[in-house]
Amino acid sequence: MPWDFNGLVSQHDWLVILAGLVCVLAVALGFCAASLWSYRRNWKQLNESSGWLDAATENMNQGLCMFDAQSRLMVWNERYRSMYNIVPDRIWRGCTVRDLLDARIAAGTFPLDPAGYATQLEAALKLGETFILTVELADGRIINVVNRPIQTGGWVATHEDITERKIAERELEDARAFLDTIIENVPSPIIVKALPEKRYVLLNRAAEIHLGIKRETMLGRLARDFMPPDTAAIIDANDQRLIETGETIFRDEHAIVTPGNGTRIATSTRLPLFGPDGKPQYLVSVIDDITDRKRSELRIEHMTHHDALTDLPNRAAFNSCIAATLELAAASGESFALLAIDLDRFKAVNDVFGHMVGDVLLREVARRMETVCAGSFLARIGGDEFAVITPTGPQPAVAEGLAARLNAAFATDLEIEGHMLRVALTIGVGIYPQDGADAATLVANANAALFRAKVEARGSVRFFEVAMDKQLRETRVLQEDLRLAIQRDEFVLHYQPQAHIDGTVTGFEALVRWRHPRHGLVPPSTFIPLAEENGTIVALGEWVLRAACREAASWPLPMSIAINLSPVQFQYDDLPKLMHQVLLETGLSPKRLELEITEGVLIGDFTRAVAVLRRLKNLGVRIAMDDFGTGYSSLSYLQSFPFDKIKIDKAFINNLSHSQHSATIIRAVIALGRGLNVPVTAEGVETEEQLKFLAAEGCDEIQGYLFGRPEPIAEYAVIVGRAPADAKPRFKLVGKAG
Ligand code: C2E
Ligand code: CA
Ligand code: CA
Repeated sequence: MPWDFNGLVSQHDWLVILAGLVCVLAVALGFCAASLWSYRRNWKQLNESSGWLDAATENMNQGLCMFDAQSRLMVWNERYRSMYNIVPDRIWRGCTVRDLLDARIAAGTFPLDPAGYATQLEAALKLGETFILTVELADGRIINVVNRPIQTGGWVATHEDITERKIAERELEDARAFLDTIIENVPSPIIVKALPEKRYVLLNRAAEIHLGIKRETMLGRLARDFMPPDTAAIIDANDQRLIETGETIFRDEHAIVTPGNGTRIATSTRLPLFGPDGKPQYLVSVIDDITDRKRSELRIEHMTHHDALTDLPNRAAFNSCIAATLELAAASGESFALLAIDLDRFKAVNDVFGHMVGDVLLREVARRMETVCAGSFLARIGGDEFAVITPTGPQPAVAEGLAARLNAAFATDLEIEGHMLRVALTIGVGIYPQDGADAATLVANANAALFRAKVEARGSVRFFEVAMDKQLRETRVLQEDLRLAIQRDEFVLHYQPQAHIDGTVTGFEALVRWRHPRHGLVPPSTFIPLAEENGTIVALGEWVLRAACREAASWPLPMSIAINLSPVQFQYDDLPKLMHQVLLETGLSPKRLELEITEGVLIGDFTRAVAVLRRLKNLGVRIAMDDFGTGYSSLSYLQSFPFDKIKIDKAFINNLSHSQHSATIIRAVIALGRGLNVPVTAEGVETEEQLKFLAAEGCDEIQGYLFGRPEPIAEYAVIVGRAPADAKPRFKLVGKAG
């Protein structure tokens, strides 16, 4: 007992005090027990919550670090360590920011400047601000770091790997940019308007071009702000309809007057895009501007039915028209006429003045004809061929009137590029139904009439007659016979002497004849044009060349031999090569050979023709210009090639007695030859009078019936140095006996 209370307190009081003490003790004990229990409970709670916290931090998707006010690491989770591959030894409770950064640098997971980072972080925290940054690691991961200050001082840092999110964002951005690029570059105009105001919110480049106005002028505005009023009204009405129905609207081909691109033809599709409220929010228009396509379609359509040079309807259009007119006439029992028209001597114009002038001439001719043919159908069928289909009406009066007006229209010269040119139309007429109840027959018969007109007189008009048809048919048959004539050995050569003005025969011109099995001797003026038309002239020409050279080579005297060449031979064959071959084969000296060509050779591909002529001349043969004075007799021809002879056409000699004009021309040609130092031959000399005139004018050579007609060579045996003709039977007998 530490205190002695015996003398001071009674036993009763002692007991009271003792009881009091016991009570106090009990209370104290109770209190202690309560405290202990409470402490135990708190401890447990604390432990429990720390476990929760651990579990939370360790299961976080983010890396977590907590720093105290002295910037020392207090808490971190495993995610943080592993995220940056920090070696476990290099992270500890209490380490500094710098320690951590060094550990990360060692692991290769801190791509920034550590000092700079620390400074920025410190500065932000000092201001109580959250410091956020996104770091891209060397391995490509992207980490979002948030350093957030906490009240107790220090801060919490979270590190979130946002690589996938970033990639997805970038992909989205890329996709958006990609779509923008596509929309911008789609060749169809695309326009988007925001509803309900219908303000323009998107236009691609094609839309800008289509409307011919910059998008800055349109964006945010309404159609009526910049579109022509009528256009704006139509657009508005269409948009309104779409808003009301909510349906996609397709507008087929329509014209739209644009603000800056004139009238365009387009088709359009308008569709609504609905908002979350189910109402149309945007209006998309996709337009197909088909103006250019339409134009080229129209142009192609036009081209398929029109001739590019004259813009007249072409052969295809002619065929359609005649079919339609036939149908109409058949139904109404009326008559109409078909005029087949040929432009006289167009080829010569083309050649002498060039294709450019030829083209202008054709266009001008077309215009003149068009004026006359108003009300009829005029077409250009080919080169210089035209056709007119008259309207139904009394025939042949309508056709006669039209043909007369056509001819009259060309009575005056045409001025083409400074040249005064005179052209004439030769016209053949066929009348429905008597000259043909179908297109093919009517066309054939109008052509037969034209053919006849051309033969008779260029510039004339002929109506079809049944006899013509027969004649045309015969011509075709003759042309077929021509193909076989060489194989059948039906051609023979006649030779006509060519003499010096004093009468000395210097050589012969070979002239071909056709011994037709039924028609007898056909003159070359009949069959040469036919052979040229169907190409048989190439084989025929080759035959003439061989036969004439062989013949001349066999003559005892070295007389010259002249051979005619057709223009067609120049076009189709390697003439110099053939010539060379024939000279070698026959052994004829090229010096004895003279080739006669006409202007026709130089018509068309002039450059090529001159090149061929030069190659021929290089073989050593001479080249003569035949029929000079007919055609255009352009001086340019004589200048373009060194001809060895000029032959004046027989028509001038023939006209000498009654035409002063002919005498003048002959004089001029002789003077020309003298000037160019080229000998001149006069053809078709039949009389002494003509000879006297030519001699007086200084003509060098002559050819004509006066000196000898074209005959089989036997007739001229003595001249070529053979025994006279009457000695022939002897040889024949020997030949027969052999
Ligand atoms: P060309 O070359 O002008 O031939 C001259 C023509 O005038 C020949 O007619 C001849 O018989 C004729 N002639 C000659 N002297 C006189 C005369 O004094 N008075 C009259 N009125 N006529 C005379 P041909 O033989 O009928 O030949 C006509 C045309 O046929 C030739 O005209 C020539 O262009 C062509 N030709 C003839 N043979 C050939 C040939 O082998 N090849 C080619 N490509 N054409 C030929
Ligand atoms: Ca000739
Ligand atoms: Ca001639």
